[in-house]
Amino acid sequence: MQNQIEAWIDETIAAHSHLKKSCACFERTFQGYYPFEFLEDSYFVVVDKLPKPNFPELRDLGLSDFLDAEFEGITYKNTYFITKGHERNMSLHFHELVHVQQWKLLGASAFISRYIQEMGSYGYMSAPLEIMAYDYQHKFERKETISNLLHSIAIEM
Ligand SMILES: [Zn+2]
Repeated sequence: MQNQIEAWIDETIAAHSHLKKSCACFERTFQGYYPFEFLEDSYFVVVDKLPKPNFPELRDLGLSDFLDAEFEGITYKNTYFITKGHERNMSLHFHELVHVQQWKLLGASAFISRYIQEMGSYGYMSAPLEIMAYDYQHKFERKETISNLLHSIAIEM
């Protein structure tokens, strides 16, 4: 299942490669949070509808709510997709970049299995990977200082 999803992710990212923009443009906004090298290697794509792997097996695992819900953003590896109209929503960009780091730390296969497991057992709002992303997003919104954000995420995994 993970392999199937990862293949779908690679195809999806490749299909949008002409629309990908590097997050290096957010260097100033995210100064003190995300280092430039990390932003430079992270990408976002603006779409009308977020691409999701609509495999029936995922519904069997209890992910129907996740697959049917309309989110504003979703992250696959070092690329996240956001819906049109949210291009300037920096909290959303910040949130998805937490997921980019989570993907990097776990690796694709482990991220996919953990995310599926969390969605199935906790649901979207209570999934630990989501809670972590929302916590950091809220700190950014409150302009709180976070010393070494990427490392903080790593030790919370
Ligand atoms: Zn999230």
